[in-house]
Amino acid sequence: MRVSLVTSADCAGFGLEFFEALRYLSADNGGVSRGGYSAAEDAAHTLLANYASRNGLTVSIDEACNTWVELPGTDSSADAIVIGSHLDSVRQGGNYDGAAGVVGGLAMLFRLQDTTQLRRPVRLVAFRGEEAAWFGTCYIGSRALVGTLESEMLDAVSPEYRISLREALQEAGADLGPIEANTALSASKSIHQYFEMHIEQGPLLVAADCPVGVVTGIRGNYRYPAITWLGEAGHSGAVSRNLRHDAVLGATEWLTTVERLWIDEEVAGADLVVTAGIFSTDPMHHAVTRIPDSVRMSLDIRSVDVSTLQRVSEQAMELASQIASRRGLEVLVGERVDTMPASIDTDTVSMIYDTALGLGYPAMKLPSGAGHDAAALGAAGIPIGMIFVRNENGSHNAQEALDIDDFCVGVDVLTEVTKRAAQ
Ligand SMILES: [Zn+2]
Repeated sequence: MRVSLVTSADCAGFGLEFFEALRYLSADNGGVSRGGYSAAEDAAHTLLANYASRNGLTVSIDEACNTWVELPGTDSSADAIVIGSHLDSVRQGGNYDGAAGVVGGLAMLFRLQDTTQLRRPVRLVAFRGEEAAWFGTCYIGSRALVGTLESEMLDAVSPEYRISLREALQEAGADLGPIEANTALSASKSIHQYFEMHIEQGPLLVAADCPVGVVTGIRGNYRYPAITWLGEAGHSGAVSRNLRHDAVLGATEWLTTVERLWIDEEVAGADLVVTAGIFSTDPMHHAVTRIPDSVRMSLDIRSVDVSTLQRVSEQAMELASQIASRRGLEVLVGERVDTMPASIDTDTVSMIYDTALGLGYPAMKLPSGAGHDAAALGAAGIPIGMIFVRNENGSHNAQEALDIDDFCVGVDVLTEVTKRAAQ
């Protein structure tokens, strides 16, 4: 039967039904597991294609196995508005990270089908393999779309599936030619603007009592995965303070200094978050009575602004060498892994924000701390915009909780934003 989604009640009923079907297809120990290029992800894409084609929309699959659904516009030569997100999840993750944007995009197409004729075509894309959990690489489908999936990423072997990404793509029926050649796929050629609706993965919308948020930029990161502090071991009772070369004291002094730097940046109005998620002495040698001679740690610096990333990273590394030399330690910062931030222009942010307020929904502007497919498209020069929908309990866990009324608010905002952009 054809789905009509003119009212909010229709939207809620459709959303509940689709999310329940998705959960049924990928249930795993209380959560869902829809690995990139897995049978469960295939099933989710088939579900989407079936719903869309039953409703008279055209479905196509691109060379990277992303699924596209098209609503034609009155001007077939005009570049399209593209709405997208992903259908994969982390292992035993939640049902809404990614899927909310795809299901919301489909709900929007069904509503537009019955209510509005737009000049531009509107296309929904469900990307494959957005989560890095399966092949160590994020944004697989969206990077393949814009021709930026690097060959070493294709060689990465999934510890879960024990095959490389290249083999997984082949098994899924992908056309590796353009992907290996880093050629943008034809579906990427005629995109006027890309919008993504996604659950918020932090607590800000819940705290502010806002159903929707407008993303001001997607934070990039400079990551130091393996920093080593080296000092000198000794008996904890036998060496006075001035003669010690304690790796833990050096590393912790550095971290508190970096936190002061962070506070100064915040006061100056910069967007910044810093995390040392790994911090350990050597478990083979450490002991209660041994002065620690080594610390392994990581540092993850994130900001929406690349100049902040550069400035903070340089200052942090300078502080590390100053502290190391004063304490008679050695610090090896190791390799740095960079992910560039994705900027969203202020006109787009204002347009989405004004649209939400105009519909009577409280909204707030906030940066995205996590990466999204939108970042891959933005890096390729496609103008992007993002809408966050309130979600409790964070993401990448089975407790993600998206209220269906908030989902429908997101669909309302997405629909109006698309109408404005597609005129
Ligand atoms: Zn996601």
